[in-house]
Amino acid sequence: MTKNLPECYTCKKKPAVTYRRIDGRYLCKECFSKWVSSIVRKTVSQKKMFERNDRIIVGLSGGKDSTVLLDILHKIERKYPSELIAVCIDEGIANYREDGLPIAEKAAKKLDVEFHLFSFKELIGYSLDEIVERSRELQEKLPSKRKTKIIKHGPCSFCGVFRRKALNIAARKLNGDKVATGHNLNDVTQTILLNLLRGDSNKLLRGDLPPEKTHELFVPRVKPLQAVAERDVVLYAFYNNLTYHTTECPYAVEAMRLDVRNFAIEIEEKYPGTLNCIKNSMDTISHKWTGSSTEITNKDEAKTYYLCEICSEPASSKVCKGCQMLDTLFKKN
Ligand code: SF4
Ligand SMILES: [Zn+2]
Ligand SMILES: [Zn+2]
Repeated sequence: MTKNLPECYTCKKKPAVTYRRIDGRYLCKECFSKWVSSIVRKTVSQKKMFERNDRIIVGLSGGKDSTVLLDILHKIERKYPSELIAVCIDEGIANYREDGLPIAEKAAKKLDVEFHLFSFKELIGYSLDEIVERSRELQEKLPSKRKTKIIKHGPCSFCGVFRRKALNIAARKLNGDKVATGHNLNDVTQTILLNLLRGDSNKLLRGDLPPEKTHELFVPRVKPLQAVAERDVVLYAFYNNLTYHTTECPYAVEAMRLDVRNFAIEIEEKYPGTLNCIKNSMDTISHKWTGSSTEITNKDEAKTYYLCEICSEPASSKVCKGCQMLDTLFKKN
């Protein structure tokens, strides 16, 4: 804190320690934390994320985003009869996840939140390290015409599919009504830009649909931190003395996402508020799109859900994406 910082804009009592990049107002740490919590509260209410009695499964990794999410939801939800249950998914990434697990467990215990640990190995039969090793082996061994799209996937593509599946299975086992994940504004905008750059208009237009149950075996997912910028997540953790895991995953992020991530940071630095504009524009577009075709979309979706022929989990094709991946990596080749 420098001596020259003015008094807090909100309470007009305490000395300010930081400023909101969005409007340049100086705030003390309490008012800053309240402001961040209020953004989450507003998102939760506007997007009708939770019912009063929901059992909310919080995906907790021990990283900054999920740790902050659990802390804020704990503050918001204590006024309701809802319940928070923390779930950590161990992907099986050597020298990385095992450091985060005890931090996640401690964070849940500190708030007296029930904690459960599940792993890729137990739920899908393989650790992410085994999956990545096998895909690299096949990439080297197979002739180019047999290198299908699945074989060429990077670690994050495998990780994303299996984590979604693992979280859904875990949430069902725990009788969860919703799954809340720690995706922040930067993550959400990166995904919008990536879908745009890859020309994936289906994913782009699907946007952030309300948490409806599209299939009885799917637990709806919500992202309560979607309007909080990464910078503000870090500051919230700092001002609230939250301990989190800072090590980067050794697989880091896939190449294109990394470029988009750096671009998003740069553009936000130069023109504060840009990430919000991207997210809000996309929200409006997908709202208008799904709003104009809701009935058709829902009917179609209801018709096109299958139970995967291999694992019996709900899927949009006869064999779910995860089983297609495992089949290609471990059986067909
Ligand atoms: S960086 Fe990629 S592989 Fe590592 S945890 Fe994240 S999504 Fe999974
Ligand atoms: Zn203040
Ligand atoms: Zn399957």
